[in-house]
Amino acid sequence: MAGYDDPNHDGNGEKYLTGKLCIEPDCDQPAGTAWGPHWCFEHNVKRLNRIDEQFTKMVGTKGAIMNLTDDEIKAWEEAKEKP
Ligand SMILES: [Zn+2]
Repeated sequence: MAGYDDPNHDGNGEKYLTGKLCIEPDCDQPAGTAWGPHWCFEHNVKRLNRIDEQFTKMVGTKGAIMNLTDDEIKAWEEAKEKP
């Protein structure tokens, strides 16, 4: 799991800030990271953690039904690490 939860990672740098505010209600932090333009750092981390958790659950409980191959799971793991 690389980068998105590290405040010092390049993907969380100022160059990604959009000049808008985070879209989460009641959040007044500046939005924009390499992983999405609409969220502040903190909410982006929460969002990606949630997606990761859901995917892990899905694979854990429905892996057999979905017939995910090891390659597909690996592709997902790699996609997550890309900024
Ligand atoms: Zn936020």
